[in-house]
Amino acid sequence: MKNKKQALVVFSGGQDSTTCLFWAKAHYEEVIAISFDYGQRHKKELECAAAIAKDYGVEHHILDLHLLNELAPNSLTRTDIAVDADAPETGTPNTFVDGRNMVFLTYAAIFAKQRGITDVVTGVSQSDFSGYPDCRDVFIKSLNTTLNLAMDYEFDLYTPLMWLDKEETWALADELGVLEVIHTRTLTCYNGIAGDGCGNCPACKLRNRGYERYMKRRLV
Ligand code: ZN
Repeated sequence: MKNKKQALVVFSGGQDSTTCLFWAKAHYEEVIAISFDYGQRHKKELECAAAIAKDYGVEHHILDLHLLNELAPNSLTRTDIAVDADAPETGTPNTFVDGRNMVFLTYAAIFAKQRGITDVVTGVSQSDFSGYPDCRDVFIKSLNTTLNLAMDYEFDLYTPLMWLDKEETWALADELGVLEVIHTRTLTCYNGIAGDGCGNCPACKLRNRGYERYMKRRLV
């Protein structure tokens, strides 16, 4: 049953944030989605987001954040930087965009407050955090406190996937009745291919392994 009024979902058009979008639709009367154009190599990600939002009647906004790409060049935005095949032994992988989640959530919070929304949903996960420091629970809690203090407002940052791995995220999509939507219409692949993707990049490997595991379990 829907027990809450409004939520704003940070929505990239990938598996995780799309699962969060449908999670929010199950829990809130009204869901608004916000995406960011930061010059990601594959515009298709934003196209997937826009198409899903349109088909499911979700108000959708895309904010221009190209400045982030100028400040923090990385393999997701620059064609001259190859995507790391595996996580490096130390430091962050070159798919990591410095400050991205902090900037996204900060802009999302500013947007939310103008609309009187307190609940902001993001698909970050500590279980599969791939070396991204801004996907950790401690960061989200810290930013939540900072945003409240910054705007003198009671934000609640919700992270439905924080403790789920990819297999469990597929299970959640199935529970929400959107397994096929997420499987065929979202884009997670670093090479810009929707659905099952290229199958070879780190994002595809993680996503596809989780899907296979969940489908095996589902058949039993
Ligand atoms: Zn891929």
